Amino acid sequence: MTEEKFKSEVEILKKFFEIHCAKKHNTLLPYTQSFNYKTLHFSVELTLCEECKNLINYAFERLYECPHEIKPKCRSCKNPCYEKSKYKEVARIMKFSGIQLGLSRIKKFFS
Ligand SMILES: [Zn+2]
Repeated sequence: MTEEKFKSEVEILKKFFEIHCAKKHNTLLPYTQSFNYKTLHFSVELTLCEECKNLINYAFERLYECPHEIKPKCRSCKNPCYEKSKYKEVARIMKFSGIQLGLSRIKKFFS
């Protein structure tokens, strides 16, 4: 995938994981993660608990390893690279946070 795509995928994961973790867990630890993808180097500040940190690192690893030039949505990928249990967990987090984001948009709209 392109460097832009990689970066935006990282940012989406960060945003969704942080929303879920802030609502569901306590012991949140801020930390910085560096990325080197092709010629792209950047770092991202994350605030997550230990458990979510491990899971998001797994998701980042899968992203690094993704062999597709044009990355499909993981959901519609023909060769899913996630372990099933991890995929389910990540999907649950993305869904939870997606709903949270939708709700806050609706609240803003009506207030
Ligand atoms: Zn967490």
